[in-house]
Amino acid sequence: MSLIAEAKKGNLTEVMKQVAAEERVEPEFVRRGIENGRIVIPVSPYRHTKPCGIGKGLRTKVNASIGTSSDIVDIDMEIEKARVAEATGADTLMELSTGGDFYDIRKKIIDSTTLSVGSVPLYQAFIEAIRKYGSAVDMKEDELFKITAEQAKLGTNFMAIHTGINFVTVERLKNQGRFGGLCSRGGAFMTAWMMHNEKENPLYSEFDYLLEIMKEHEVTLSMGNGMRAGAIHDSTDRAQIQELIMNSELSDRSHEAGVQTIVEGPGHIPIDEIDANVKLMKRLSGEKPFYMLGPLVTDIAPGYDHIVAAIGASLSSAYGADFICYVTPAEHLALPNVDDVKQGVITARIAAHIGDMVKNNDRGRDLEMGRARRDLKWDRMYELAIDPEHARAVRDSRSPEDSEACTMCGNYCALKIVKQNFNFER
Ligand code: SF4
Repeated sequence: MSLIAEAKKGNLTEVMKQVAAEERVEPEFVRRGIENGRIVIPVSPYRHTKPCGIGKGLRTKVNASIGTSSDIVDIDMEIEKARVAEATGADTLMELSTGGDFYDIRKKIIDSTTLSVGSVPLYQAFIEAIRKYGSAVDMKEDELFKITAEQAKLGTNFMAIHTGINFVTVERLKNQGRFGGLCSRGGAFMTAWMMHNEKENPLYSEFDYLLEIMKEHEVTLSMGNGMRAGAIHDSTDRAQIQELIMNSELSDRSHEAGVQTIVEGPGHIPIDEIDANVKLMKRLSGEKPFYMLGPLVTDIAPGYDHIVAAIGASLSSAYGADFICYVTPAEHLALPNVDDVKQGVITARIAAHIGDMVKNNDRGRDLEMGRARRDLKWDRMYELAIDPEHARAVRDSRSPEDSEACTMCGNYCALKIVKQNFNFER
């Protein structure tokens, strides 16, 4: 029985209890969230994974996307990226390979992690069409659904599927135009396919069939944001909002069919539009879990886009986004390497926590850090740090003469002066 069916019957399953314990909420809170579509736990009947609850009232989760490209196919590096992402604290992985043997790479990555794994079946379908027929626009609809089912059977927990791109969405895109075009690979492929074949997106027109596949293999459906802006000047435009409306409507059908559902959001948007985007999505979708891709809040910082995205992600999480996709320093420049993945995960985890401090009033660890700093308890500070190893390495690389303080102020450590002369302790 699916998790939604269990939740509707009032049953508390083991994964609901595990998520509740991890989140320090009542199991009944998790069950009710799954029943009403506000919480998902992407599971797979084919593989045991560490349960990860995503949605209202839970900690903001971080996804790390990895995978080969047509230029760089290094399976060992991808497995190492998966390992580092998990070790650094990512909550989920998306395996988004576009080069090499899709089955082999995905299987090896899935076997190398205990995290929930997501995929975008459209990538494989279009790239295999290029390999077989010479062009993505020759992709056959039945092959797309076949690949979707095959990926599910490998133990994929959730899939980003571009359901909201249809003739109406594409018409909005054509009428308005874009400064930055389309940055979603799935969105670009599907729009080109629809225009060339003058056919509706099969993921939209055959949505009920798609739901049958999702339900049979218990995959969580993440409704892809193929129309997201790839440039700040295209943010929150008609095509993006049209797709959001379509996805929100379909998300209700999906939940009613017993398929756990997430809705994805932008993209590139300035900070003053984040609040509106989160509220609009939550309102239109009946508060389904919101998966925010960044967002990137300026376009002019290549090489530092992990920081740009963290600013956007901390705000989106604070306003109510439930799940954020990391961005690495290599964004817009190159395929991320292992160190980029580490930087991306750490930065996104910082953003998620900043958001949770507002959204969930999760401030206990900050209070502990404040006290540890006041008392100059360095080991405790490292324990509480998001990246203890890095914090320790920085201090050790510039060791102080007076071991109690650090070399920032040395002999004039404000905390030490206060400690010697006053008692402000709380
Ligand atoms: S030396 Fe300065 S920066 Fe370092 S612990 Fe003391 S007050 Fe903080």
